[in-house]
Amino acid sequence: MVNCLHMITIHSILKEIAALFAARKKEVCLVGGAVRDMIRREAVQDWDLATNAPPAEVMAIFREARPPGRVFPTGIKHGTITALYRGRSLEITTYRTEADYSDGRRPDAVRYAATIEEDLARRDFTMNAIALRLPGGETVDPFGGEADIRARIIRCVGKAEERFSEDGLRPLRAVRFAAQLGFELEQHTEAAIPAALSVSAKVSRERVRDELDKILASPRPSRALLLMEKTGLMELFLPELAACRGVEQKGFHRFDVLDHSLLACDYAAGKQYPPEVRAAALLHDTGKPVTRKMELEGVWSFYHHEAESEKIARNILGRLRYPGAFIDAVCHLVKEHMFHYTGEWTDAAVRRFIVRAGETNLENLYRLRMADACAIAGAEPPPDFLLPLTRRVDRVLSESRALSLKDLAVSGKDLMAIGISPGKTMGIILNELLETVLDDPAQNAREQLLEIAGELNGKLKAGLIRKPQFPNKATEENSLF
Ligand code: ATP
Ligand code: MG
Repeated sequence: MVNCLHMITIHSILKEIAALFAARKKEVCLVGGAVRDMIRREAVQDWDLATNAPPAEVMAIFREARPPGRVFPTGIKHGTITALYRGRSLEITTYRTEADYSDGRRPDAVRYAATIEEDLARRDFTMNAIALRLPGGETVDPFGGEADIRARIIRCVGKAEERFSEDGLRPLRAVRFAAQLGFELEQHTEAAIPAALSVSAKVSRERVRDELDKILASPRPSRALLLMEKTGLMELFLPELAACRGVEQKGFHRFDVLDHSLLACDYAAGKQYPPEVRAAALLHDTGKPVTRKMELEGVWSFYHHEAESEKIARNILGRLRYPGAFIDAVCHLVKEHMFHYTGEWTDAAVRRFIVRAGETNLENLYRLRMADACAIAGAEPPPDFLLPLTRRVDRVLSESRALSLKDLAVSGKDLMAIGISPGKTMGIILNELLETVLDDPAQNAREQLLEIAGELNGKLKAGLIRKPQFPNKATEENSLF
């Protein structure tokens, strides 16, 4: 096999760093993802370094450099410091071996090692256990990592059962790398995952979330998600999604709900849609298993599954400690994904659709709809698929921008001035004025609205209408579709 690491050029900053270590008679190697990506001839993301210098000395080396680097003891317990040097951020870890892992999450104690070979032996996969000695770039590859990278294989260093039982994050890293790199899991590595599920169950939810994030950011998330399903990781971390397997949708789709969700998610990833759209694509139908009903022989209905999916998505993302704003963004898309535009929509219905979706979310909602449509048909939707709706929305927006309370020609103060008391009554009246303006933007004139408000106030006081009298028309109209 051709060893092509000798053709790799070492960056001048790395050579400079090597000289700093050499001046103290210490070794330093490039390790981890950077080496893997150099072999794959992909852009290197960040530099991880390993050294036989203890952490205190690593800090001194960077502080005393000219120009000096800044150092942060980011993982000092594990022998890792982060250095900012010549505009680069580097992670430098002292060679180490790891002792017992009694909690399945982190080693009980960190023991420093004498050689890079020992250090590489504690790493997860052969592709991640290659070092390049600096400054020359000589390869240290005791586990055949370069060959595995060329064969596109993810293989544990040593015995997979042991490596996974030490650290339950590794199975997730394995499937995440499969999606990120487009590699296959080596047979024994894959086979060892089910027995390690109880160890994976102990991994902190934030770390699971970080892996899911990377899976969603990969070019084909389904590679990881299908492996998760096959090995039991999906049942463990995303049981609501696992429950979508075998939920047939005859009458609508040729795919079951899980395959449909994976196709939608892959489409969103392939189009490089933002993370909230990818997550929404994955979770948008999770409410289907619980809402499914047999309507006619062999034809299923899923009424209001989007509301159930929203609840389930909120549960999943909350459990995985996603930030609130991200959860809200995903859940909003999930809740609103069931619109079906027809030319019969009135302009008022289009305005209500915009209000419901929120103008800033329209683009993402269209994207989710594209992903959903592709995953129904199993093929790219026609280029003009959403064009009639988007054109209509653009036209309606160009004609009227009175879409929220703040766009009304009257304010709460104006209503107070005609004797409407602040509080619930005011809220009801303002909302009804907005409904009126959504029906007919020409009504958005001060005098006109004051007159309507006065009438409503009188009726409310006389008990002629009860609170809340005004249904959300946006909900009514859109739920027809
Ligand atoms: P990327 O940064 O692109 O996600 P990476 O391989 O650099 O990929 P890091 O999480 O930065 O991943 O870790 C750097 C290196 O540390 C890995 O390549 C691997 O050698 C080792 N490593 C990281 N996490 C583990 C783990 N849980 N068990 C064993 N080794 C690990
Ligand atoms: Mg890295």
